[in-house]
Amino acid sequence: MGAAALYQLAKRGKRVLGIDRFAPPHGFGSSHGQSRITRLAIGEGAHFTPLALRSHDIWRELERETGRALMTRTGGLVIGGHKDAAPLHVANFLEQTIKAAKRYDIRHEILDARDIRRRFTAFNPRDDEIGYYEYEASFLRPETCVEVQLDLARMHGVEIRESTRVLDIDGTDVKTDGGTFHAERVVVSAGPWISDLLGVACEDVFRVYRQVMFWFEVDGPAAPFQPGNFPIFIWQIPNATHGIYGFPAIDGEHAIKIAGEQYVVTTSADDVNRHVSEEEIAHMHERHVAPFLKNVSLRCVRAVPCLYTVTQDAGFVVDTMPGNEQVLIVSACSGHGFKHSAALGEAVAELIVDGRSRLDLSAFRLDRFTATGISPPRL
Ligand SMILES: Cc1cc2nc3c(=O)[nH]c(=O)nc-3n(C[C@H](O)[C@H](O)[C@H](O)COP(=O)(O)OP(=O)(O)OC[C@H]3O[C@@H](n4cnc5c(N)ncnc54)[C@H](O)[C@@H]3O)c2cc1C
Repeated sequence: MGAAALYQLAKRGKRVLGIDRFAPPHGFGSSHGQSRITRLAIGEGAHFTPLALRSHDIWRELERETGRALMTRTGGLVIGGHKDAAPLHVANFLEQTIKAAKRYDIRHEILDARDIRRRFTAFNPRDDEIGYYEYEASFLRPETCVEVQLDLARMHGVEIRESTRVLDIDGTDVKTDGGTFHAERVVVSAGPWISDLLGVACEDVFRVYRQVMFWFEVDGPAAPFQPGNFPIFIWQIPNATHGIYGFPAIDGEHAIKIAGEQYVVTTSADDVNRHVSEEEIAHMHERHVAPFLKNVSLRCVRAVPCLYTVTQDAGFVVDTMPGNEQVLIVSACSGHGFKHSAALGEAVAELIVDGRSRLDLSAFRLDRFTATGISPPRL
């Protein structure tokens, strides 16, 4: 979010300073791990689709400008429809995806279980499951996306202070361990650390959850798992607390990345356990991989934790700080924000430069929580 906002502000000729406690792209927050799904019909709610459409345009623009590969089209499969289908971010993910596709005329097909097994041989759906196949669904390379936007921002003259920690924001004075900076406007996009910087005004709005990404080696030839034969997928698997999602084998690896979700144990970015145990790997494979995908072995080549920063409605916060109109909050977006980050960065720049953004951000207001009373995430 910060890289996109910096780049877009710099492009508009603003004098901008970027501050980060590490040196992005890095693996301590929420934007690492080789790949992120992007799709256009958004199951979390059709109001996200304009953000995804605009982001796809910007990702392609950035690719043309830099010659770097950011977004690879693989097609995307959302499987669900079982009477006990697990939620994924929201309960009716598949239904909302289809609704959004129809509303925005997103090219797609509805497949029955037999079609899925025939076209994508690694997938093993139950007979009563169906699939939504979206042609434009792709994966993004998050580290490269961050890097190119920061590089372009620097080329436009932006200064980026790495290894500099913001300690407090007082009005528009940004106090860091490397001195205090005064700005006309401040954008806070601190990912899973966001609550540390917003204080009581946003207490309890965000919860941080540790999630784990697993790379399991595949048996036999890699071809059935490579782009062309294997789409990105989201699966509301039956009889589970949450769904799973995954990616094809890329970058010459003989392994696919798969992840699930948990909303039971909260953590914080400073205290999170960054080690993944053998038990976690075995449990993931036995419960969430082997019953659904053929020829994916228990051999885990890597497992990496990452952090979701979640609101109670699984939505975003893009709004001014209560009591301080000069400070704009851009949240880490409840585990589904990367695909939208290019457009959110642009919207932030438009808000700051023009006073309004071309995209409607009203669904991301903070007062939807404060007006109704805050309660823990219901996921
Ligand atoms: C496992 C996992 C899978 C996901 N899958 C998808 C997906 O498939 N598709 C999708 O669209 N989204 C996905 N997401 C969500 C998406 O990755 C996030 O919404 C997005 O990356 C959040 O970016 P951010 O810039 O808000 O946070 P971050 O990338 O964490 O950036 C926050 C930055 O703030 C800096 N910072 C924090 N505090 C301070 C401070 N005090 N001083 C200075 N700097 C500070 C940090 O160093 C960091 O660089 C996933 C997330 C996870 C964890």
